[in-house]
Amino acid sequence: MSQDKGALVLFSGGQDSATCLAWALDRFDRVETLGFDYGQRHRIELECRAALRKGMVKLHPDWAGRLGEDHTLDLASLGEVSQTALTRDIAIEMETGGLPNTFVPGRNIIFLTFAAALAYRRGLKHIVGGMCETDFSGYPDCRDDTIKALQVALNLGMDRRFVLETPLMWIDKAETWALAKRIGGHRLVELIVAESHTCYLGTRGEKHDWGFGCGTCPACELRAKGYHAFVASEEE
Ligand code: ZN
Repeated sequence: MSQDKGALVLFSGGQDSATCLAWALDRFDRVETLGFDYGQRHRIELECRAALRKGMVKLHPDWAGRLGEDHTLDLASLGEVSQTALTRDIAIEMETGGLPNTFVPGRNIIFLTFAAALAYRRGLKHIVGGMCETDFSGYPDCRDDTIKALQVALNLGMDRRFVLETPLMWIDKAETWALAKRIGGHRLVELIVAESHTCYLGTRGEKHDWGFGCGTCPACELRAKGYHAFVASEEE
């Protein structure tokens, strides 16, 4: 198989990365997944990964043959250098400077650099991530220019021609649901609703129409709002 047709997907088990995995399975011959464990306050997202992978291969006959290995990298040191609400037991709030305290400085730069090192070893050209400027909460490492600059740096530093793919960069949460529908139909939307996890508090709780979660944290609110906008646009 040509190396040009292989992809590595940054796969956390959330809505965005689940959509990215389906996007990759739809267009690349070989797709591997990568999850990071950096001492998240909750591990539910990581546990959702297996259920999503299992569900995806049942959705489309081609996808079963394309989905390859799952990798997990332990980045506990990232939790050590950051004091944020995602890795410590503190409340989520806005800090001076306008960034929420969920921000782990440079997290995506670190993730993509480790992903490229793994992709190098695995012979995968495309690295797919759910970074997005539209709902990006001001995270500077989600910016399109950050990703493009990093692609140049990685290709120079590793002497490769990696392509950093960000299919969600310019769409909002409602359009992310619509993208899932276009790729895998209603069954993919249902799989992502039921098995992906977004809640910052790590609560599965009751099942809402948009999925499981506490329903009140910023991540749940964003996900619910996007889902309802998606449903409304379907009814138009
Ligand atoms: Zn929540």
